[in-house]
Amino acid sequence: MPGGTTVRAAVCRGVGEPQSIEQLVLAAPGPGEVRVRIDACAVCHSDLMYTDGGWATDFPLVMGHEAAGCILETGPGVADVAVGDQVVVSLVRSCGECPACRRGHHVTCSGEFALDRQSPLTDGTGSPVAQGLNTGAFAEQVVVHRSQVVPHPADVPSTSASLLACGVLTGAGAVHNTAQVQAGDVVVVVGCGGVGIGAIQGARLAGAEQIVAVDPLPDKRESALLLGASHAVDPVSGDVAAVLREATGGRLADHLFITTAAPSALDNAVELLAPMGALVLVGMPPDGIAFEIDPTMLAAANQRILGSKMGTVRLADDIPRLIDHYRAGDFELDALVTTTHSLEDIDLAFDEVRRGKVLRTVILPNGHASPDHATPGNDREADA
Ligand SMILES: [Zn+2]
Ligand SMILES: [Zn+2]
Repeated sequence: MPGGTTVRAAVCRGVGEPQSIEQLVLAAPGPGEVRVRIDACAVCHSDLMYTDGGWATDFPLVMGHEAAGCILETGPGVADVAVGDQVVVSLVRSCGECPACRRGHHVTCSGEFALDRQSPLTDGTGSPVAQGLNTGAFAEQVVVHRSQVVPHPADVPSTSASLLACGVLTGAGAVHNTAQVQAGDVVVVVGCGGVGIGAIQGARLAGAEQIVAVDPLPDKRESALLLGASHAVDPVSGDVAAVLREATGGRLADHLFITTAAPSALDNAVELLAPMGALVLVGMPPDGIAFEIDPTMLAAANQRILGSKMGTVRLADDIPRLIDHYRAGDFELDALVTTTHSLEDIDLAFDEVRRGKVLRTVILPNGHASPDHATPGNDREADA
């Protein structure tokens, strides 16, 4: 493979195994592709689903798909982004030409990509190493399809911009695109990690009248209240239905967002819905989980169940929209970064996410924070 670059990356070689920092060869970008220096990549629960065996995958692979960085090289035919552009790097890859893309449904693109057929990464023995979730951004650099990057203004720190590549974007997109929450609606958000906090902030921007946040962890409930929730309930010791009934005078939820992968979140969820209400499934549980509904009850109350893949986003529309809100001071990103780590500490960072200790922890594969934002998010409470 001509023109390869040597990069350090965290390689996962099997379920439950520690990740190893290895020197890999990254191929030059082909037609329609870009090479990006990764300045920040947040750890997402989807990364853990693969490393912990919740979802099946082939190894070895480099995880990481919630990233931001700087374009270093553009492949043939890439004319609308340039070397030096600061970009969000996401897992959503869209061809722009298939039936789904032509209708704006980028998250269900059925296009074919050279990167799907051959990973740009090879290890020291010349064997291919997969890019997890189309990205492989726990690495100093990536090669991705042009559609996966969205330029952002240089005054947005990479640590904060990275959150707009997956979790927070997904939550905000589920509210804006999938459910289309309207002013005055009642919203319940189950799970207050990055996706849930994105949904809560999105609901606040949409003018939701009540936003009830549900999470067993006190820190996450506190963050939810600071960022727009009107109520926060512990689903273990509290009574979500009672709080919702009281908050809404018995009206219940117009939209119930399940943002966690915990299967217990689905138990009795439909009972929290108002007539005409929608259950919006955003979080993706481990393979093989099912839940029961009563179709007659659902039809009689004219209710809906909606799946939301990546918040039905169109990166080029949704990321600039949220960055505008961020720069206007009405969409928080900086304070969601609880900790940052070097690439070497990736297993430690994964463990923080596994234990629910953080809203978002961000890996800095090139070993430094953005110069304008050297100590992101360590003052979460004071900042909010
Ligand atoms: Zn993710
Ligand atoms: Zn497509």
